Amino acid sequence: MKTIGLIGGMSWESSLEYYRIINETVKARLGGLHSAKSLMFSFDFEEIETLQMVGNWAKATDLMIEAARQLERGGADFIVICTNTMHKMADDVATAVNIPLLHIADATAQAIQEKGLQKIGLLGTNFTMEEAFYKGRLTDKFGLDVLVPQRPERQVVHDIIYDELCLGVTKEESRAQYRQIMAEMAAAGAEGIILGCTEIGLLVNQEDSPVPLFDTTAIHAETAVAFALKE
Ligand code: GLU
Repeated sequence: MKTIGLIGGMSWESSLEYYRIINETVKARLGGLHSAKSLMFSFDFEEIETLQMVGNWAKATDLMIEAARQLERGGADFIVICTNTMHKMADDVATAVNIPLLHIADATAQAIQEKGLQKIGLLGTNFTMEEAFYKGRLTDKFGLDVLVPQRPERQVVHDIIYDELCLGVTKEESRAQYRQIMAEMAAAGAEGIILGCTEIGLLVNQEDSPVPLFDTTAIHAETAVAFALKE
């Protein structure tokens, strides 16, 4: 079994999900007392969020590269970044180490293609919903037709992530807002919806959506286990 190198803490609420799903999946696959071999570098998210808000992506990239190198030095066989947003610098991180990086958008796009879907809704932070590193990758590399909510709804989705979910807060009214936005995307033709932020699965599940959901946390964690167990 390979050792999974997790870059987490963004937020720790979702890193906990990665840790749980990865270990549950290994147990389901191997049985007995089996669990995953893993290392986690867990950031102080306040530091990262401040860099995001002021747009200091250069400094954030340096920190991410250093975290990946520490994992590599510690014996990790591959890297998993436990957030969609911080895949903004995934290419820089991947070239800075000599071990592979499993990209969250690639794992998700493959899951969508396996279901034969083409037009897909995307929820996440504004960075994820608006920028080329994520939305563009789904379109350019995988040929998916990506739909995002309108500007005011995007802000609602973004604010609930940072002001509530990353603080471990789930509110019924926020769930209702997400349900409404997902219903609107489905009405606009989305055949499925990507939960493109690793905390969204803490707020909504399949019952809240009229179309299939693709939870990036679960997909990414399960892909990591498949890679770790591959001969
Ligand atoms: N975990 C979130 C994501 O998947 C947002 C937190 C962050 O900015 O990394 O995008």
